[in-house]
Amino acid sequence: MRVLVTGGAGFIGSHLCERLLAQGHEVLCLDNFFTGSRSNVIHLFSEPYFELVRHDVIEPILLEVDRIYHLACPASPVHYQFNPVKTIKTSVIGTINMLGLAKRVKARILLASTSEVYGDPLVHPQTEDYWGNVNPIGIRSCYDESKRLAETLMFDYHRQNDVDIRIIRIFNTYGPRMNENDGRVVSNFIVQTLRGQALTVYGEGQQTRSFCYVDDLVDGMMRLMEGPHVGPINVGNPNEFTILQLAEAVRDLVNPDAEIVFKPLPSDDPRQRQPDITRARTLLGWEPRVQLQEGLKRTIADFKQRLLTHHPE
Ligand code: NAD
Ligand code: UDP
Repeated sequence: MRVLVTGGAGFIGSHLCERLLAQGHEVLCLDNFFTGSRSNVIHLFSEPYFELVRHDVIEPILLEVDRIYHLACPASPVHYQFNPVKTIKTSVIGTINMLGLAKRVKARILLASTSEVYGDPLVHPQTEDYWGNVNPIGIRSCYDESKRLAETLMFDYHRQNDVDIRIIRIFNTYGPRMNENDGRVVSNFIVQTLRGQALTVYGEGQQTRSFCYVDDLVDGMMRLMEGPHVGPINVGNPNEFTILQLAEAVRDLVNPDAEIVFKPLPSDDPRQRQPDITRARTLLGWEPRVQLQEGLKRTIADFKQRLLTHHPE
């Protein structure tokens, strides 16, 4: 099949492109390189069925494809808050453009949605039928609310125009190839310990997250795309940790002497997050395989190698 991956030069997108090529598909990767980069996909340039196009999804594009994995959108709070209006345009206008394309060429389209649609959740763990607890006017709203609207658009194009849709709600995902300046917690802690700096825990570190290794996530995403279920379906690893526990785990793996310092908690930071993955288990036959210790080891090895290459001193 001809598969379009928007945001394909980003962290998750680059792993997805790799897997799609390995399955024999033709992959068209669109990216504006805001948080992604050529270096994430440079190893795919020699693949005859891989094509990289610099394009901003805010602009329409005419293509002929069978599948659209729509991932284009900055995912780290640091980056989506850099230009919040642009984030909203990317998520809303970008999704309208990709839905228009899907409608015209009758392609199936999958939206990379997020656990952030649940906001600071009052239901724990989060099931897909929970409508969430989202602040509409806070500093995370440009991302949360525009992803919620992207989901709305998906369902309206589905009901109104019969577009073939899939929605995945991704929970905190980490792994090799995260940008060293990404700003999310796993990459921050790893980069900090490798550089001999203190780990910055926000608040008291008692807020929780559940961390999914990227290979597991991509597997779930591809199962959803090729299965009959529209979603939304949560995909994430239900093993939940406090941020302080994560800091200790990274510290113990890299440098047990590293210091942990506490910084102010950003506003609207969700207090708890854990996916209920009953739907993914039963409808997709999916189960996360890589647990935190193993996933961290692989991610640390990748960062070590990259930081050494960038800073040979
Ligand atoms: P990422 O920032 O590494 O990747 C996003 C990619 O989209 C980058 O390559 C970026 O350059 C590109 N992009 C951004 N705006 C664009 C635009 N206007 N036009 C074209 N390309 C654009 O982040 P990621 O972790 O790989 O996330 C990928 C997708 O998964 C995002 O939609 C994100 O919201 C979603 N998601 C990720 C997580 C996670 O934990 N990693 C969790 C929930 C949802
Ligand atoms: N966090 C932290 N130190 C950091 C970066 C993040 O303690 O250097 C915390 C952050 O406040 C949040 C959690 O880690 O509670 C996850 O943050 P991230 O930005 O990775 O993702 P999100 O909040 O979107 O789940």
